[in-house]
Amino acid sequence: ATRDGGDPVRCYEPSMGERAARRLRLIRGFSAAVSRRDVRVDFQPVVSLGERTVVGVEALARWDHPELGLLLPDEFVPVLEATGQIAELTSFVLDESLAAARRWLDRGMRLSVAVNVSVGNLGSAGFPDEVASLLAVHGVPAELLTLELTESGVSSEREVALPVLRRLHALGCHLAVDDFGTGQSSLAHLRRLPVDQVKIDKSFVLGMGTEYGDVAVVRAIVEMGHTLGLTVVAEGVERAAVRAALVDMGCDVAQGYLVSRPLPARCFDSWLDSLDVH
Ligand code: C2E
Ligand code: CA
Ligand code: CA
Ligand code: CA
Repeated sequence: ATRDGGDPVRCYEPSMGERAARRLRLIRGFSAAVSRRDVRVDFQPVVSLGERTVVGVEALARWDHPELGLLLPDEFVPVLEATGQIAELTSFVLDESLAAARRWLDRGMRLSVAVNVSVGNLGSAGFPDEVASLLAVHGVPAELLTLELTESGVSSEREVALPVLRRLHALGCHLAVDDFGTGQSSLAHLRRLPVDQVKIDKSFVLGMGTEYGDVAVVRAIVEMGHTLGLTVVAEGVERAAVRAALVDMGCDVAQGYLVSRPLPARCFDSWLDSLDVH
């Protein structure tokens, strides 16, 4: 179908059967893919807008499938969430991310790592213990770990997740609300959660170049976030003009293709080294 209702120029669209078969393939193949290391974690730098220094990374999962090619999390994360296999992905990403944080510490760099967690992770009472034990195994201070929860996640299952969030916060981990502005929860709502950061959804940041309304939304989130004592992160920063506008608004940190795309661990390390040179 086309957006304007005109003559449909058909692209290849997989049928329902094909999609279901692909899904089933992902479900059946996931655990083996983790053991074979076809699943990996890429790191995207997060920079301070004031000082222009790298303050941390966001860990983003990728699945390099031998037959289907590189799969992005928007395809496989919802599948793993539906089956409960998301717990296995989160454990893997936490383990890889904390190992990397330890490596950076050993090289004298205190970088924080942000890991995306699903509502399903928060439904498990054992999750905070798992986080605590991985922090201990890798010897990484809890304050270097940020757990990112989507806005829809924290608003829909708030009652269930609150004790788990409190325990994670008590460990010293930071909590961020991801994709902020896309859901229906207000910042005042967030005040009741043990949250430290808001990440403005990239759709607003991408629109800042062209849509005046998006500039106003971003400014409002920065101001209200600061009123509530939260660190405000802008993601999807692709243009220098947008970064300059974010600096003017007092936004704290930024992430986006302007600084770097997500990079495999080894490429990220070389990217860091290239910064030292300049
Ligand atoms: P997210 O948490 O909102 O992550 C940011 C997404 O924006 C990433 O897409 C990143 O590559 C992309 N991005 C970063 N900078 C820019 C930019 O300047 N412009 C544009 N257009 N995009 C940018 P990615 O890696 O495809 O991840 C998609 C989503 O999948 C993530 O959105 C997150 O919700 C989810 N995800 C990724 N890894 C994991 C994971 O390990 N566990 C879980 N539960 N979810 C994950
Ligand atoms: Ca995120
Ligand atoms: Ca986001
Ligand atoms: Ca997202």
